[in-house]
Amino acid sequence: MTRQPRPDPTRWPSPCSGCGLHVETRPYGVGGALVCFPCGTGTPEAEATARAALGAALAGPGPRVLTDLGPQLMPSNLTKPGRN
Ligand SMILES: [Zn+2]
Repeated sequence: MTRQPRPDPTRWPSPCSGCGLHVETRPYGVGGALVCFPCGTGTPEAEATARAALGAALAGPGPRVLTDLGPQLMPSNLTKPGRN
């Protein structure tokens, strides 16, 4: 059984596209829809969709970092020589 996260509209203004709760979401639903962890992994089909969306988001020529908005390009000041 998966524990449902606690809704908090002030922290998570965009609701989950699956359950409609204002909880932590990621853009790994169908067509990039925001889904919470239980909705994104609740069925084998949902988990396959989430894994495919994450894989596609991580694919690319440059290094990526995971953020609340999903994978993003790593800031260039962290990838160039001479950083401190
Ligand atoms: Zn949900």
